[in-house]
Amino acid sequence: MSKAVGNRAYWCDTCHVPLIGKQCLACGGIGRDICAATLVPVFRPEINYLKGKTDATIHPLLKEGEIWLAPGHYTYYCQGVPFLKLSAKSDKVEISKQPKALKPLNRSVKKALETLKQANRKYIEDLQYEAEIFILKTVKKYEGKINMVSFSGGKDSTVVSHLVMNALGRSDVLHIFADTTIEFPDTYGYLQKFQQQHPLTPFVETRSNLDFFQTAKSIGPPSRILRWCCTTHKTNPLSKLIDSMSPDQGILAFDGVRKIESSRRANYSRISNDHKIAREILARPILEWSDLQVWFYMLSQGLSFNQAYKKGFRRVGCLFCPFNSDWSQLMLKERYPKQWERWQIFLAKQAIRMKHPNPEVFVERGWRSRAGGRGLDFYKSSVESSPCILSENAVQYQLLSGDIHLLRHFLRPLGPQSIVNKDEYLESFLIHDYKSNKILASVEIGFIDHSVRVNYIVNKNKRLFRQRVEKQIKKLQVCIFCGACGAKCKSNALDSEGHFLVDESKCISCLTCISHNCPIVKSLHYKGIN
Ligand SMILES: [Zn+2]
Repeated sequence: MSKAVGNRAYWCDTCHVPLIGKQCLACGGIGRDICAATLVPVFRPEINYLKGKTDATIHPLLKEGEIWLAPGHYTYYCQGVPFLKLSAKSDKVEISKQPKALKPLNRSVKKALETLKQANRKYIEDLQYEAEIFILKTVKKYEGKINMVSFSGGKDSTVVSHLVMNALGRSDVLHIFADTTIEFPDTYGYLQKFQQQHPLTPFVETRSNLDFFQTAKSIGPPSRILRWCCTTHKTNPLSKLIDSMSPDQGILAFDGVRKIESSRRANYSRISNDHKIAREILARPILEWSDLQVWFYMLSQGLSFNQAYKKGFRRVGCLFCPFNSDWSQLMLKERYPKQWERWQIFLAKQAIRMKHPNPEVFVERGWRSRAGGRGLDFYKSSVESSPCILSENAVQYQLLSGDIHLLRHFLRPLGPQSIVNKDEYLESFLIHDYKSNKILASVEIGFIDHSVRVNYIVNKNKRLFRQRVEKQIKKLQVCIFCGACGAKCKSNALDSEGHFLVDESKCISCLTCISHNCPIVKSLHYKGIN
C-alpha cells in the first residue's frame, strides 16, 4: 500500500482544500491534521437541507465545494474548521464554532474542485497505480476464470469498476448487480446512467424470487441479529447466477469492500476464496482505502455516481437496513417519503401481529436497534418464527436494562461456554452440560439492539433449563450488584459485589446462585413491573 497517504485528513489553509497526505501538492505547504480520513464532501441538496435548519447569517458559508463532513460525529467543516454539529435524533443543527471568524470564499465549485485535484494529484495517482497493478497481477494469477465486477451502485463499486476497466484496458468486463428489490430509488437511476455511459460493458441484473415485504411478513423484518435479507436477497440470487454461468472454471470477482466499513471487515484479506459463493475468488482492490480517498478518486476522475450521496446518504444499499443510523432514517423520511411510509405501515402491522407490547417503540427503532436500552417499558417477546429450521426451539428476548456484555457471566453457572463468534455487534456461544459436555443451548447476543436469542437444544428438562435462563436474564436487567448471590457460592467462583464475574476454572454449575432468590427481582415483581 502506498505510504504517501494515510488515514488522516489534512487541511491546506492556503489553498483551502482537504489533503490525503501531509503536504499540499499545489502550494507545497504542510497541511493541518484535522480529523480521521472519514471526511466526505457535502453537496447542494444536503446544503439546502442544512440551510433550512440554520439561521441566515451562516448561509453564505454553506457552499458546495467548501463544506466537508465527518459523518461519525455529524460534524461539518468549513475551511477546515468544525463549525456545525448535527443531532440526528432531534433533527437539530447546532453551531459549534464561531462562524463569524470565517469569511466566505469567493470561488466557484469548479475552481474548488480544480484546486483539490492539484493539491492531491500525486497521492491519487499513486493509489490508482498501486490498485491497478494489484488488479493486473490478480487477473494473471487466476487466468482462465471469468472476470467480473460485483456492482452495487454505491461509490466503492463505482471506483472499483473504473479501476478494473482502466487496468485491463477494456470496457467489456462483466458487471453483476444483485437487486434486493429494496434498493434506493436513486440506485436504479444511477444503474441506468451507468449503462448508458458504458454501452460496451455487459451488465447483468439478478433478483430474488422472494418479495422482500412478503418475506418480512412471514419471518419478521430483518434485525441486526437476524440478517436474513443479505442471504435471501443478495447472496442466494448471485450464487445461482454464477452457478448457471460458470460451472467449471469459476469466477474472479472484484468488489468494493473496504476495511474501514466495519470491524468485521477489518480481518478481510485482499484476495479470498473463503466466501459464501463457491468457486468464486474475491478480490478487493480498494480494501485499505479511506472514504476521503474514494471520494477524491471519484471527483478527480470526474466519475458519475449515485445521487443518493448528494442527498445526504453516507452509504447506499438496502433502504430498510437494520444497520441504518438515525441520520439515515431521517434522510429516508425526508428524501424517499413514499418508500418510508410503506415501511412504517408495514412495521406497525408487524408490531400488531407480534402482539408487541410497545408498537411505537418497535416501529421507531425496536425493529433495528435499541438506542440506549434503558428507560423503556419492559418487554420480553418470543420469536414468532425465524428462517432457521431450529426456530421451534428458539426464543428471542429483548433486554430492557443492564449491561448486555455481562449476560455471558449471568449464564455461565448453567454450564461451560464455548465461543462461536464475537465482534462489536454480536457474541454467540454454546452452553454445554458441565458433566457430559453435551450442548444444551446456543446463545446469540446482539450488543447494539440488546436482544438475545436462545436456541434450546437440550431435550431433557428443557422447560426447567429455559426457566433458569429467563431467571438469569431478569436478574441481569435489575442487578444492582449487591453481592447476595455470590455470597452463596460454595466454590468461590462468583463475585457479584460491585460487578458480576464468574471464575471459569472454579464454577462447577451447582446452580446455587441461580436457585437463590434475588431480592431485587422479587421486589420488582411485587411492584408489578415484571
Ligand atoms: Zn496548498
